[in-house]
Amino acid sequence: CGIVGYVGARSSIDVLMGGLKRLEYRGYDSAGVAIVDDDGAIETAKRAGKLKVLAEELAAHPLHEGRTGIGHTRWATHGGPTDRNAHPHLGDEGRLALIHNGIIENFSELKHELEADGLTFESETDTEVAAVLLGREVRRTGDLREAFRQVVNRLEGAFTLLAVHRDEPGLVVGARRNSPLVIGLGEGENFFGSDVAAFVEYTKRAVAIGQDQIVAITADEVVVTDFDGVPVQVEPFEVAWDA
Ligand code: GLU
Repeated sequence: CGIVGYVGARSSIDVLMGGLKRLEYRGYDSAGVAIVDDDGAIETAKRAGKLKVLAEELAAHPLHEGRTGIGHTRWATHGGPTDRNAHPHLGDEGRLALIHNGIIENFSELKHELEADGLTFESETDTEVAAVLLGREVRRTGDLREAFRQVVNRLEGAFTLLAVHRDEPGLVVGARRNSPLVIGLGEGENFFGSDVAAFVEYTKRAVAIGQDQIVAITADEVVVTDFDGVPVQVEPFEVAWDA
């Protein structure tokens, strides 16, 4: 139900937890984060319940430092509100993490296809299908951006997606269809949010992502394309917000 993403010089976990806190007003039943740590490994923490439960988990078992990360609050549609069904979901044998708002309508068809390929699932969610499919495409193409483009073209329904891969430690890829996604533009850092509340504490320069667009952010660059990979011109706006 809420999405936040970060690449920059800050400790991403603080940015993610702060962003999720400011998105809490939207309602949710579970929360989770994934970071690419400074040694290039994906680390995740996710819990059913309030953000406080996730914060306690992180206090008891801190993740390593990482400057790239994604965070999610879930409003369950497919699979009950459990720790296992909470996002992020993993693909490519734990090398990538993905979060999703919305509903993937053709998930069961895709799941059968992936199971026929010998791939396995740990949750009952529609979302994990996108994570596992992304893993398969990363293996096939050797490139996260290209793989992500393949995946969004296979999905039907409503989705805002963000993903990170340990082999691309300074990159977060995102896409949207029938579900919102906004970028926050910083100095040597960039943000994703399901709305500007996610990052308004850090920057008021934002870009609203259009229908059926893909975005790749690094600390210094924001690249927006359509689902065919054709570049899209963006127009930043100033967020009117006193935070
Ligand atoms: N359909 C996904 C799930 O049930 C995402 C729900 C959401 O938008 O939070 O896990």
